[in-house]
Amino acid sequence: MKINKDTDALLVVDVQNDFITGSLAVPNAVDIIPVINSIIPKFTTIIYSADSHIKDHPSFQAQGGPWPDHCVIGSFGHRLHKDLLVRTGNPVIVHKGLKEEAYSAFSGLVTGELNTEKTVEGLLRTLGTKRLFICGLATDYCVKATVLDALKLFDGEVYVLLNAVRSVDINKTDGIRAIDEMGEAGAMFIATSDLED
Ligand code: ZN
Repeated sequence: MKINKDTDALLVVDVQNDFITGSLAVPNAVDIIPVINSIIPKFTTIIYSADSHIKDHPSFQAQGGPWPDHCVIGSFGHRLHKDLLVRTGNPVIVHKGLKEEAYSAFSGLVTGELNTEKTVEGLLRTLGTKRLFICGLATDYCVKATVLDALKLFDGEVYVLLNAVRSVDINKTDGIRAIDEMGEAGAMFIATSDLED
């Protein structure tokens, strides 16, 4: 598949330290970083999402939420992994989960000084994006929620880069079930090796 730099976009979901080596580490998550890096140069539009919580967030167990403390703004765990290629200059970062836990990148706020749009769908519409390629962490949570939202809110084709996602698999088949669900909703699946300049 040939990448069109004008009308294709890449969305990298939550490749943050806490999901790789931290409190919510996804098994083998580090393996996807070189895979994602290999396709970064093929795209002009790249959006990075980041789970972004305040200290004492309602999603944390101490506050009665389901998760250990993670992705607290300003902490090491919140940062994108140092080996992930991030465009210098003005990368598009989407912060999500500022108030309540939010799995989908489409629920986040777009930052970056060149962006006049506040939402991912608004940004993609303004850019005239026709195909959205999604990778990152984790298949059974934030990738799934992002893909399902993309199919509802983004007016174009949605692809999941299957070799550039990893699942938590609290139950052994969660990742597989998430892939089934995304497929039933209309997502298409490819590998990064299918993408050509
Ligand atoms: Zn979170």
